[in-house]
Amino acid sequence: MRIGNLAGRLVIVGSSGAIDVEQASEGRFASDPQAIYDRWDEFRQWAAQVPSSNATAYNPADLGAPAPRPRQLFAIGLNYRDHVAESGFGLPDQPPVFTKFMSAITGPFGEIAIPAGNVDWEVELVVVMGKGARDIDESQAWDHIAGVTAGQDISERITQSIGPAPQFSLGKSFPSFAPMGPWLVTPDELPARDDLALGCSVNGEKVQDSRTSFLMFNVPALLQRLSSVLPLLPGDVIFTGTPAGVGMGRMPPRFLATGDELVTYIEGVGEMRHRIVARQ
Ligand code: ZN
Repeated sequence: MRIGNLAGRLVIVGSSGAIDVEQASEGRFASDPQAIYDRWDEFRQWAAQVPSSNATAYNPADLGAPAPRPRQLFAIGLNYRDHVAESGFGLPDQPPVFTKFMSAITGPFGEIAIPAGNVDWEVELVVVMGKGARDIDESQAWDHIAGVTAGQDISERITQSIGPAPQFSLGKSFPSFAPMGPWLVTPDELPARDDLALGCSVNGEKVQDSRTSFLMFNVPALLQRLSSVLPLLPGDVIFTGTPAGVGMGRMPPRFLATGDELVTYIEGVGEMRHRIVARQ
């Protein structure tokens, strides 16, 4: 199943269009896409028997982030060996964790507004929690996941590196720096949930191209690690890390500029498309 955020309303997305969940359920489920994760199992059962004849055509430009207001948004650094190498760090013993603040979230199509500085791309597999818990065991981890989507961990490298201790969260949280979409895909629909191709291109030139099977801390390991420290809550979002090919790691470095088009894809999920504009 695919669910989406269509102009702020929760929809089930099918080949013939979108089904408005509040209308099709006659009010049993609210229209707020973020609220559905608190009732994920109940929703899945109901959604399995909704006739696709309720679907109507829609404009993809109206799609928003499938989890627009998570209570917690985690992002993982240095999680692909080749990206660790291009970043100049040592291999981590534990996954480095930071946040992207919620106001940075935006949808899968439209604009990313960049401030002055060195703004970089980072394609990432994004996981959204269904059933929350503490102390999740790796073997059960996928049962706690509502689905996955594509994300970009857009990063302004100067802000990210400022000060005696780097402050990743701020430099990665300018408004529109956390695009997600185009929709959420449930794990049962994925061709191989721990081995998905992902990548992105700038103005048609492929700059990142990898597979999630190269994650050093894979999705189950991340859930186990995070939930050993704090509870993961329904609707929480985890950006799982980026592979090699970011602009910072290039010779010479290359960063996003006004007018660029950034296209991001994940196998089994789909594609996001953004135009880079100057921050007003
Ligand atoms: Zn990242």
